[in-house]
Amino acid sequence: MLQARCQEFRSRLLAWYQANARDLPWRKSHDPYRVWVSEIMLQQTRVAAVIEHYHEFLRLFPTVEKLAARRESSVLAAWSGLGYYRRARLLHAAAKLIARSLRGKFPPTAEGWRQLPGIGRYTAAAIASIAFGEPAAAVDGNVERVLERVNGNSPSGGELWQAAEDLLDRARPGDFNQAMMELGATVCTPRAPRCRMCPVIEMCATRGELAGGAQTSRQKKREIHYALRCRGSQVCLVVRPRHAALMPGMWELPQIEAPGGHAKPAFTVKHSITTTDYTVRVWNLGLPARIPGRWISRPRLARLPLTGLARKILRRAGIMQRAVPRGQSPGRPHA
Ligand code: SF4
Repeated sequence: MLQARCQEFRSRLLAWYQANARDLPWRKSHDPYRVWVSEIMLQQTRVAAVIEHYHEFLRLFPTVEKLAARRESSVLAAWSGLGYYRRARLLHAAAKLIARSLRGKFPPTAEGWRQLPGIGRYTAAAIASIAFGEPAAAVDGNVERVLERVNGNSPSGGELWQAAEDLLDRARPGDFNQAMMELGATVCTPRAPRCRMCPVIEMCATRGELAGGAQTSRQKKREIHYALRCRGSQVCLVVRPRHAALMPGMWELPQIEAPGGHAKPAFTVKHSITTTDYTVRVWNLGLPARIPGRWISRPRLARLPLTGLARKILRRAGIMQRAVPRGQSPGRPHA
């Protein structure tokens, strides 16, 4: 894109962002700790789910020092429901490094952030540009799609990042990066871009021509079964092995084979993890059932790193209460 067109693109995009940006809690602050936590939570996770957990996480761990001082199991417990628990482990590891080796000082550059656990090129650039105003372009999936469509080509690797750097508004890099992501998330969407509402349509080489058509779902379907066993105010849970590839050290209900005969499950829930949609049947099993596990008292459940599915089942069974995000009444829809 010619330099003059680039300038026009930047000013139109930024004006649109200022008028139309969604009111998201992490956008109210440029504090590096808050920006960092939000960027890690937002990786591969829906905005609505992050909103549910963001305030509570910051209430429990208001500073990097407080996060570093807590045990990993407490951090995992607060992360429960967000999935991809490796992110929480790496966030905790990075917090310890910042608190101890960097004496609580956050790196002011993307290069500095990239030295920390769990921080890739996109996340480093996003934090450095939003919190410190460093002119570093951040390319996530949304930005990549916008760049492809605007430029009418599909660069990859270094060329893609160079295209983002060329377009970046170096005076307002944090706002510009967020505006590109917002455009990709709300207007230049994967299948049906709303080009007629797009602030940069006049500078766009394709105007929606590269939009993908309806795609068939590649989600797999599986049915799994869990035992729900209660004894007084206790519930039987198992912990995933430390060496498990998925969610090591997390607690869940004992998984069982489908009971035969004409028995009916207590209830069924739906749960999706990456490319698989699970139909989860939960069976009320009596006390004599020979199933390994530990008896956990109800008050302890909230402090335990539970898998998202275990939390969902325990809430559905009325054993745990549904969390209500601060500032919201129960049942209020998320933004
Ligand atoms: S005109 Fe359409 S395809 Fe081009 S950037 Fe805007 S929404 Fe995307």
